[in-house]
Amino acid sequence: MDILSMAEKIAAGDRRSLSRAITLIESGRADHRQDALALMEALAQRPERRQAIRIGLSGTPGVGKSTFIEAFGMFLTGLGKRVAVLAVDPSSARSGGSILGDKTRMERLSRDPAAFIRPSPSQSQLGGVARRSREAVTLCEAAGFDVVLIETVGVGQSETMVAEMADLFLLLLAPAGGDELQGVKRGIMEMADIILVNKADGELKSAATRTCADYAGALRLLRKRPQDPEGFPKAMTVSAVEETGLETAWSEMMTLIGWRQETGHFEGRRAEQARYWFREDVRNGLLAQLETPEARAEMVRLAEEVGAGVIPASAGAEAMLGWLRG
Ligand code: GDP
Repeated sequence: MDILSMAEKIAAGDRRSLSRAITLIESGRADHRQDALALMEALAQRPERRQAIRIGLSGTPGVGKSTFIEAFGMFLTGLGKRVAVLAVDPSSARSGGSILGDKTRMERLSRDPAAFIRPSPSQSQLGGVARRSREAVTLCEAAGFDVVLIETVGVGQSETMVAEMADLFLLLLAPAGGDELQGVKRGIMEMADIILVNKADGELKSAATRTCADYAGALRLLRKRPQDPEGFPKAMTVSAVEETGLETAWSEMMTLIGWRQETGHFEGRRAEQARYWFREDVRNGLLAQLETPEARAEMVRLAEEVGAGVIPASAGAEAMLGWLRG
């Protein structure tokens, strides 16, 4: 494969090359991995030095993520922006199926020539999903997209992963009765830069306004973060169906990003994220060494010995680590 010409085509905004490159980084084959690494390096050395705004978006199924992304994506392309949508779907790591991969989602946006939608890769472990998504974000950035939206379902670890690859993290919520505030884990609230209470329309409007006020109150109780200007993180209402609140939401995002760019927090966070992913990749690489058939067999053999009381657990672990070091 001609990596340099692929990098060139991606930088020229060629979608087919971008799609092929994402397929390449998603591949588990060792030779593909080498090509993918070479491609990422080639892109890092390109003169364009493009920077997209990377926006993470999380919310439980049914809050309206796809409806919102479609509406917000169309709003952004209407402003003349090029928008890429990527999905990080932790369920695909377990089941091999992808709930965010449904082709019928975001039909209008997918027909928009200024938009690019990529469903999440299936059949890989969570660490793998994270790395691939992060590389896909970089590819979209190199391809000249202005905004990269990274969507995830609100379960478990996936928010942390997405927050670690985004400049801005949005939490999408639905209007709720008062007791549901506790349903959102504190850790996830703390990650959010902007909470969007969706479905602020029709009969749900007043409930949405109330929910928004509740969350605004809860956000005020959180410790102030150095990367936030006055008034952030904040909660606001939107309606993805009626396409209201999108402009205000975008303007708040721009305010936040602008402030972070001026104060150095934007670059600082990206550097921090690069270090985070470096450490994660090392960790995952080490774990992958345990997954080879030979290593598994050695693990089983030593575990038997430990179980039978032939050697203590700690000695077994030492023996295994020694085996891995060769
Ligand atoms: P996702 O699972 O988070 O991607 O949610 P969807 O976008 O598929 O939306 C789930 C349901 O909520 C659908 O029936 C949507 O029509 C509905 N929905 C999404 N956004 C809104 C909104 O702004 N207002 C109202 N009333 N319904 C909405």
